[in-house]
Amino acid sequence: MRVLASASRLRALLLPLQRRSFASTASRLESYGFIGLGQMGYQMARNLQSKLTPNDTVSIFDVNPQAMSGLETEMKSQSSGARVELAASVFDASKDADVVFTVLPEPQHVQDVFKSILTDSLPKKNRVFIDCSTIDPSTSRKVAKSVSDAGQGTFIDAPMSGGVVGATAGTLTFMVGATEDVAARIEPTLLLMGRKALHCGDQGAGLSAKLANNYLLAVNNIATAEAMNLGMKWGLDPQKLAGVLNVSTGKCWPSEVNNPVKGVVETAPAGRDYRGGFGIGLMKKDLRLAILAAKEAGARMELADKAWEVYEETEKLENCKGRDFSVVYRYLGGKET
Ligand code: NAD
Repeated sequence: MRVLASASRLRALLLPLQRRSFASTASRLESYGFIGLGQMGYQMARNLQSKLTPNDTVSIFDVNPQAMSGLETEMKSQSSGARVELAASVFDASKDADVVFTVLPEPQHVQDVFKSILTDSLPKKNRVFIDCSTIDPSTSRKVAKSVSDAGQGTFIDAPMSGGVVGATAGTLTFMVGATEDVAARIEPTLLLMGRKALHCGDQGAGLSAKLANNYLLAVNNIATAEAMNLGMKWGLDPQKLAGVLNVSTGKCWPSEVNNPVKGVVETAPAGRDYRGGFGIGLMKKDLRLAILAAKEAGARMELADKAWEVYEETEKLENCKGRDFSVVYRYLGGKET
């Protein structure tokens, strides 16, 4: 895996190159479609539009009309940025676009959206479709094939990490599955919404990397909650225990940044009744997709089913439901002061 480069340097270096590669004439600038304006997509589209030029166009679409009109108002209130169009459908958002982003919840949504886009009336164009949804690699590969079979350009996967905070601040990390040349072409565009674009390999590889990471996170999160609870039952002070873990071999993101015990990390969701953060529902979704993809690849996963059961049981509790996934500490009966 290769970090392609820092945002500002590459933007300056590659933007003219990118424009040349998409534009059919020197004067014509780019047209973007953006489909899926939920928690992530709304903020990403806002950042994208604000950093483009008034000669560019962003055509936005979501099945939720409120998301569209709210974003339109926000985009139009800016003094600069690309022109904004409200599309009437996913097809409408794509028909003139050179680059189409999709940020959708589940594999089925991505499949349905591409069925609606890839109709016979879609003008033939060498588009780049960038799917930032977290879905399974095999569905992603099927959709990529349908795009190339239809002669409509290239479909790549670019799932992201950084959450809503990163989407809002424009600091996301994208994990890119594409050929080298396509990855280099789309990188400056991704860096309008994020800080890093990691090229993981051919199409589907971005999703494989994302799901492997989130599987590890799912397990680390439970193990951290168990270790903190265990140490505290033995009489250890949680601050001191976390201090030891975070300079020792047990150190991980849940122990260091998202510690499940209130007061250990000031900014962690544990300090606000586990509200905000990475919802337990999203963790379950990513774990489900990782288990599915592992089965397809014949990879043995000893902890996956147990981790799934822990999140499933946690979510059944009224005081855990809808909270940040570190709430498993509460499910374990951890002490809260
Ligand atoms: P979300 O549910 O908030 O947003 C999804 C949006 O897609 C909604 O606005 C919905 O109306 C829209 N949509 C659904 N079907 C559609 C269709 N047919 N046409 C047009 N729009 C449609 O989800 P989110 O939190 O923005 O996440 C999007 C993706 O990013 C998911 O795959 C998620 O796993 C992934 N992700 C989320 C986070 C996070 O912290 N929220 C972090 C990393 C990755």
